[in-house]
Amino acid sequence: MVDCLFCKIIAGTIPSSKVYEDEQTYAFADINPQAPTHVLIVPRKHIASLDHAAPEDIAALGHLHTVAADIARGQGLANGYRTVINTGEDGGQTVDHLHVHLLGGRSLHWPPG
Ligand code: 5GP
Ligand code: ZN
Repeated sequence: MVDCLFCKIIAGTIPSSKVYEDEQTYAFADINPQAPTHVLIVPRKHIASLDHAAPEDIAALGHLHTVAADIARGQGLANGYRTVINTGEDGGQTVDHLHVHLLGGRSLHWPPG
């Protein structure tokens, strides 16, 4: 098995604050929130980054985003929110297990810098 922080969170060997789960997906609160709502939505399958996603992962990638929208609705983010996937070093990725950030609850700046 890959030595991966998010795989350990999904397996429950590292604790997390669960927001949502289903057969394909696990979502939990970011430990260092950058907005009043900051949730990480991850596939249970270990995919190192978006750059490592294969054609067989297309449905899972779509599912992550509809789950993000469901969570945003559930958290009352009617005024809007942002979903982000950081990829690789220049993209700011620090955990090598593909994840969608859901950020909301404040006005977010653009460009992100
Ligand atoms: P990235 O920088 O790879 O796009 O995002 C990784 C995210 O994982 C960061 O926002 C960081 O705060 C979060 N994170 C890192 N370690 C942990 C942890 O142990 N638990 C939780 N809940 N979030 C973590
Ligand atoms: Zn992993």
